[in-house]
Amino acid sequence: MAKVICVANQKGGVGKTTTSVNLAASLAAAEKKTLLIDMDPQGNASSGVGVDKGGLEETVYDVLINEIDPSGAILSTEFAGLDLLPATADLAGAELELVAAMARELKLKQALEAIRGRYDYIIIDCPPSLNLLTINSLTAADSVLIPLQCEFYAMEGLSQILNTIRLVQKGLNAALKIEGILLTMFDARNNISRQVSEEIRTHFPRETFAAMIPRNVRLSEAPSHGKPIILYDITSRGAASYLELAKEILRKEGSNG
Ligand code: ADP
Ligand code: MG
Repeated sequence: MAKVICVANQKGGVGKTTTSVNLAASLAAAEKKTLLIDMDPQGNASSGVGVDKGGLEETVYDVLINEIDPSGAILSTEFAGLDLLPATADLAGAELELVAAMARELKLKQALEAIRGRYDYIIIDCPPSLNLLTINSLTAADSVLIPLQCEFYAMEGLSQILNTIRLVQKGLNAALKIEGILLTMFDARNNISRQVSEEIRTHFPRETFAAMIPRNVRLSEAPSHGKPIILYDITSRGAASYLELAKEILRKEGSNG
């Protein structure tokens, strides 16, 4: 049965999509059969693994709203072992349509039941808000990974997502765990970046991943080529950092049995 990890933070531009794409590819590179689910109407995770959103017949929208079997919408990617459940702009409509639906928070969880057996990992890329798409993702997940940009307001943003996680644990998904806090866009030459990373590690010593993602221009270039970083430039510091993150997650899994 797949372990489902949701990548969430209500702030935009903190590295959710970059982390979802590159963690998913790094897990696939470690021979774990992996599914990446794009839950953001912007569809950046879909284009990030080279999928042309123009020609798609079925997407995660149809899974949530028309309750189609997700197998019908899942695509294989150029990267061996990595599949994608894509999203396009129409997913923004699902957010509104879900409001009136029965068991509206459970749509993704119910849909994943049919396919969990086929994967080792399922990685969900969330939109930059705490809306029903994010709630569906947190409800479907075993754990949540929180990317945190090393900048001044990082701590405040963190308490907001931690509150939401607590609410979901109370009402919808008591088993939801925190996979970890991932420091992203770290720049060792920048004082704020160093201070924030130290502060987060002091407050959350167990939760913060040892792996840390540096600010790396290769990571920002890769999406325009439709490639995960390990296909685009395996020698980059960005690639090494995401491979390190995947290793840390796999190690933890191993030690938990
Ligand atoms: P989110 O999904 O949280 O909105 P993204 O992953 O899309 O954030 O990242 C926001 C922008 O920053 C993108 O243009 C992305 O390419 C870039 N970016 C993300 N992580 C890094 C990094 N470690 N170094 C440099 N650029 C990055
Ligand atoms: Mg994103």
